[in-house]
Amino acid sequence: EDKGPADLGLRSEAEEDVEITHPERVVFPADGITKGQVADYYRAVAPLLMPELVDRPLSLIRCPDGAEGTCFFQKHHAAKLGDRVGAIPIREKGGDREDYLYVGDRAALMQLVQMNTLEFHPWGARIDDPEHPDRIVFDLDPGDGVEWKAIVAAAREIRARLQEVGLESFVRLSGGKGLHVVVPLDRSAAWDEAKAFCEAFARAMAAQAPERYLAVASKAKRPGRIFIDWLRNGRGATSVTNWSLRARPGAPVAVPLRWEELGRTRSGADYDMQRALRRARSDKADAWAGIDAMRQALPALD
Ligand code: ATP
Ligand code: MN
Ligand code: MN
Repeated sequence: EDKGPADLGLRSEAEEDVEITHPERVVFPADGITKGQVADYYRAVAPLLMPELVDRPLSLIRCPDGAEGTCFFQKHHAAKLGDRVGAIPIREKGGDREDYLYVGDRAALMQLVQMNTLEFHPWGARIDDPEHPDRIVFDLDPGDGVEWKAIVAAAREIRARLQEVGLESFVRLSGGKGLHVVVPLDRSAAWDEAKAFCEAFARAMAAQAPERYLAVASKAKRPGRIFIDWLRNGRGATSVTNWSLRARPGAPVAVPLRWEELGRTRSGADYDMQRALRRARSDKADAWAGIDAMRQALPALD
């Protein structure tokens, strides 16, 4: 039986036991947001964040000196992160197994916040089967001079093209410059197949509209065009998760939307922490309702 992450979340209510030290320390200097407020934010959105995060290999962006200090990307487990933080051995490219980290309950989430984690970047796969993705992501990265309307149009075009091959998709504001289009999968395909599908999909779009889209990571070729970043779909790649803060000025949040809302957005960073909190408490909070019940198989490439 394939239990979705939603069935696995919220195993512990013990997050109150996790002490947040130096809650007065300023983490977002331009916005006056403290570590205590970041912790309050993650406590408040935990019911929405946990189903997205729980039991997935996870990379962190930790910022011990705040969002404007030096931040680092961490993918491996370390005991000092906290005793509730999970370790899952995963084979590296070189063949050795290393412990990756995961969050199994809210206490682990809050321990990572205590260790100055600002951003959460899970795999699109779960720890019971890390080799088979249950989520793939088309990451839309605009070059300089691309209007927001064009990014919205690209996301809608991806959605329509996915529907043509029988796949439903979901959209999120990245909290940065772009959008992510996320496709839930039934875990029948391995990473290599998923990546090949995404590459072919991106290349087909770029071939049909080369003045608008690009399927290679070249920054030189990007001005005025949108890079359809399919490279997020290789084994070991990550994407920022819904409701994660971003370590960028303004304390923006990655926010899941309903497709119908996309026309009213103005940038990938439309939601700051306060606005995201209001959304999390509103009837719009479950914009991706039903995603974990979908069982979609990747179509064969022709
Ligand atoms: P934006 O909309 O501004 O592009 P983004 O989250 O999509 O925001 P990208 O630069 O496109 O940012 O990166 C996509 C993903 O790649 C990130 O969400 C993250 O999971 C992963 N990533 C970012 N930095 C690193 C890194 N140093 N090492 C490995 N993976 C990274
Ligand atoms: Mn991006
Ligand atoms: Mn990218």
